[in-house]
Amino acid sequence: MVLLDKIFNAGVVGAGGAGFPSHIKANSKVEFVLANGAECEPLIHKDYELMLHFPKEITKGLELLIESTSAKKGLFGIKEKNVKAISTISKYLNGKTELTKLGDFYPSGDEFELVYEATGKLIPPAGIPLDIGCVVNNVETLYNIAQAGKEIPVTKKIICVAGAVKKPSSFFVPIGTSFKDIIEFAGGTIVKDFGIFVGGVMMGSLTFNLNDVVTKTTAGLILLPKDHYLIKRKNQPEQSWHRIGKSACDQCSYCTEFCPRYLLGYQVEPHKVMRSLGFTKTGSAVWNQMAELCCACGLCTLYACPEDLYPKEACDKAKTEMREAGIKFVQQKPVKVHPIKEGRRVPLKQLIMKLKLQDYDVEAPFNSEKIKVNKVKIPLQQHIGKPAEALVKKGEVVEEGQMIGEVPDGELGANIHASIKGKVKEATKEFILIES
Ligand code: SF4
Ligand code: SF4
Repeated sequence: MVLLDKIFNAGVVGAGGAGFPSHIKANSKVEFVLANGAECEPLIHKDYELMLHFPKEITKGLELLIESTSAKKGLFGIKEKNVKAISTISKYLNGKTELTKLGDFYPSGDEFELVYEATGKLIPPAGIPLDIGCVVNNVETLYNIAQAGKEIPVTKKIICVAGAVKKPSSFFVPIGTSFKDIIEFAGGTIVKDFGIFVGGVMMGSLTFNLNDVVTKTTAGLILLPKDHYLIKRKNQPEQSWHRIGKSACDQCSYCTEFCPRYLLGYQVEPHKVMRSLGFTKTGSAVWNQMAELCCACGLCTLYACPEDLYPKEACDKAKTEMREAGIKFVQQKPVKVHPIKEGRRVPLKQLIMKLKLQDYDVEAPFNSEKIKVNKVKIPLQQHIGKPAEALVKKGEVVEEGQMIGEVPDGELGANIHASIKGKVKEATKEFILIES
């Protein structure tokens, strides 16, 4: 079987982002394959731990991808401060791959940033790395590609649990494991009332539901006390983000001046998007366009704005309104890196202080102990594209690794596999519930 089919069968999707099916990237022809080991979300260290403990698998995945895409070269991005990861990975790199040492800034793991740092090339506005002959894969995706090469499907996920827990750590969990079980495995919480940032405090979502489950794209859980600054900020009703913004934004433009996409030369200007909150009848369609190329990194809201307003959320809203109105913004100006870009980068340590997270800024060492769960709820949509179609019915007994959901014919999607052995308790269009 060729690699593409193995990746497709194994249900590999981008583990570091929105879950783009990996067989599509593996099927392209490019000049560079980039390994993304930048990991810049505060407190999340699972990629770092994966690089320390599974360098052979990660570099094997990279080699397989270089071969399948006929790439000239591999480029492996790791932060310069992660000396141990650099020396571990370096031992396994063949002559085709070079290391790209990255600074400790947020968001150095953003694809546009990484491609620019590693190749000096700029992705066209609203484009993808493929447009300039690159594919980018997170290190965990490369690990999963190496496993797929051995015909092992994606049934587990490495996750970092940090913040207000007794044992901040990184470990593999079966896909579909509840947050409740995961938090217990991290020693339990150190506070009674808490919220959970899923995927990180900058780009993740906030939940209070312990029954939510891990999917193929969940990078980490950050637990914070309910009265923490970030929970209060994130937990404001959406209406008040925009109501306060309308009256309090003084158009200082700091949000734009710190925006990493703006500094790379893209027409993202959140201060102009903020204008559309106040002038909804006279030009919102014009100002909203300045949000189209925003990558939702959250820096404008959580770092730049001196008034604690919500420019990132205004950009989210603007993008939705643009889609609904059928307006597509096309940048006319050539992309040109801002001369002050280097001087405006945001050091991760400084961001952590601003977010009031310094008390939680600790290591999250890898725990190789196998987490035992007797119940998993496996969503059939954990990726970009169409949801998988259930292949099993209530009452059936399934083996770990058995395919339980498949991509509908001719559609973009990813297969889904049982992450534990057990009996199917429920099978719907949305999920499969298995109990052992
Ligand atoms: S930084 Fe804040 S106050 Fe300044 S323009 Fe942006 S949203 Fe308005
Ligand atoms: S979230 Fe804000 S800082 Fe980040 S890309 Fe969007 S506008 Fe720029």
